[in-house]
Amino acid sequence: MLILFDIDGTLLLTQGAGIAAMADAGRELFGEHFTVDGVEFSGRLDHVIFSDLVRRNRVNGGTAHHDRFRSAYHRHLGDRLTRNPTARLLPGVQELVDRLGQEPTVTLGLLTGNYPETGALKIRAAGMDPRGFTVNAWGCEGGSRRDLPALAMHRYARRNGGAISPDRVVIIGDTPHDIDCAKAHGCRSLGVATGAFSKEDLHRVGADLAVDDLSKTHDIVSWIMRDLT
Ligand SMILES: [Mg+2]
Repeated sequence: MLILFDIDGTLLLTQGAGIAAMADAGRELFGEHFTVDGVEFSGRLDHVIFSDLVRRNRVNGGTAHHDRFRSAYHRHLGDRLTRNPTARLLPGVQELVDRLGQEPTVTLGLLTGNYPETGALKIRAAGMDPRGFTVNAWGCEGGSRRDLPALAMHRYARRNGGAISPDRVVIIGDTPHDIDCAKAHGCRSLGVATGAFSKEDLHRVGADLAVDDLSKTHDIVSWIMRDLT
């Protein structure tokens, strides 16, 4: 079984530090007028957000600045989370990850819009070891979120020496984008209303299960493991 967690709004909240660090990076590289206003962040891939930001700010050269932006964003995020440690795990996350980690048939992974370096930074800042997630698909590895489940399943197969059926993959996330990418590949989806969307929103877009938060460890583990014989 492969359990893939989204990061922001699902494992943790940085309480705005991620978006603020993108704004820092934009101002450093492109000037004080740079703004993140009007750009949608939730559930989207960081490099796609960057494309929107350069368009919104009419940056000359556009996405050619991506690698410089990525590295400035990483530095600013590190500075912010050190100066003001606002990253927090969401309710039940530590218990759920610990509990699933004890299941011999379970592999834990991340499926996220984050870059690997900033995703790991956020998880560490929230007090969890990112090395517990061993099969990961990152935001910079696809053109859209729908590209990421296949990549994670491919990595699972390479690591474990055999393919995994999509119905043994559970994608856990807080936005319709997380649910959509699971459905596109026949994976199961668990929506969690700890980000910008309600349980009803996540149900409406087709989440197989939607919960207020991840604190009901026993119920969630039972639902995840129910098809295992
Ligand atoms: Mg999220």
